[in-house]
Amino acid sequence: MNNPSITIIGAGLQGASIALALSKRGYSSILLDKRPAPLLGASLRNEGKIHLGFVYALDGDGSTRKIMLEGALSFGSLIESWCGDVPWDEWRSENFKYVVMPDSLLSSQQLESSYTDISECLAKLESQFGRKLYYLGRSLSWLWRRSKDDRLMGETFSREVFETEEVSIDPRRFSEFLAQKIREDRNISFYGGVSVVAAKRKGNGFELEIFENGSPSKLSSDIVINCTWEDRLRLDKTVGIEPYPTQSSYRIKYQILVSSKDYSKMRAVTMVQGPYGDIVPWRDGTVYLSWYPKSCTYFSSRPPEDDHQSQAYKVAEESLDAISKLYPTLSGAKILSSLPGIIVARGQSDVDQIDSDLHMRNKIGPRAYNGWWSVDTGKLTTAPYFAEKTAALIESEIR
Ligand SMILES: Cc1cc2nc3c(=O)[nH]c(=O)nc-3n(C[C@H](O)[C@H](O)[C@H](O)COP(=O)(O)OP(=O)(O)OC[C@H]3O[C@@H](n4cnc5c(N)ncnc54)[C@H](O)[C@@H]3O)c2cc1C
Repeated sequence: MNNPSITIIGAGLQGASIALALSKRGYSSILLDKRPAPLLGASLRNEGKIHLGFVYALDGDGSTRKIMLEGALSFGSLIESWCGDVPWDEWRSENFKYVVMPDSLLSSQQLESSYTDISECLAKLESQFGRKLYYLGRSLSWLWRRSKDDRLMGETFSREVFETEEVSIDPRRFSEFLAQKIREDRNISFYGGVSVVAAKRKGNGFELEIFENGSPSKLSSDIVINCTWEDRLRLDKTVGIEPYPTQSSYRIKYQILVSSKDYSKMRAVTMVQGPYGDIVPWRDGTVYLSWYPKSCTYFSSRPPEDDHQSQAYKVAEESLDAISKLYPTLSGAKILSSLPGIIVARGQSDVDQIDSDLHMRNKIGPRAYNGWWSVDTGKLTTAPYFAEKTAALIESEIR
């Protein structure tokens, strides 16, 4: 196929990264999104953790930890290869501490064994590459260790704590930066306010049924890449592709940001292993928080029908109230914003169940269906990694 037209549906981190990876190879693409600008969906409304695999301690065969590690260790260098210099140090949080909760689904010994597995996986990857691998512009040195810090967040308690080298990057700064790169790239034509309703095969390509500013129209493309996250399985179906993975669930979880006068005492914390929460102090003085029983308000095998924005403030109040009981340093914090985001994943029982498939993200990534590509991002962490993979595969098909 000579110079095929390529259309990417969905300008979250997944679609935007694929457009950048294709551009780097010299291919132009059209990038469509129902929202007015790139990176306003889940890729903005999240915690920004670039997972090294610690959260996936319940994945028995370790495949999710390996995918997360590969995603995390390629994240920085891929973004840099597409965008040039990136101010990782301005966006990064401090290192996460993993706090073992009293009713954790795994004991600290079991967690330690899973974390040891990550160390071994990292050592294997480094020996494969024959060099130290970079994580957001820095090399990793100790990865994790048991901590003696029992005064986390100003509270004295005797919970077991693991220190890690894992960090988050501020999703607001990162999204803003990448959206600007998309606008500047001459190989990428971005169109916002365009909803793709359905698609069908036509000749050797596809015809997309779209809605732009309330008016229906059609768009033809030789290659289509579906990166619509919450709408991916429905759109695939319109071209006759059966949902993969089967048995997905949709959750709504909120990105809650607060400010507190006790900011300097805040630590980046992930509570494990089960339906708990996270705290991430950002460099600008704002703090991300989540408390799963309150911050996750929707769990269904069907995508949500509305955006759940109307209950966002109440969810933030309840989450802050609940998490302040554990970390009183957060009491009195002021709610700045609360944005609902959708999480799509394989698994029909919730994270409080030890055998839930939600503890795994190992059936993710791009799948090809004769010119139609469907990309299950899995996590923010893995989006650039899968983008590079998708662009390389498309290039090999075109040549
Ligand atoms: C609260 C929360 C916290 C999270 N924390 C983390 C974390 O710390 N680390 C991590 O790795 N992951 C995290 N995630 C998951 C992560 O946000 C997602 O995996 C990732 O952002 C998905 O990227 P995406 O590009 O596939 O989706 P999105 O960013 O949602 O992009 C999809 C785009 O498709 C567009 N679209 C949808 N349907 C259509 C259509 N029919 N026509 C046109 N456009 C359409 C949408 O407008 C959207 O812009 C979190 C998610 C949430 C909600």
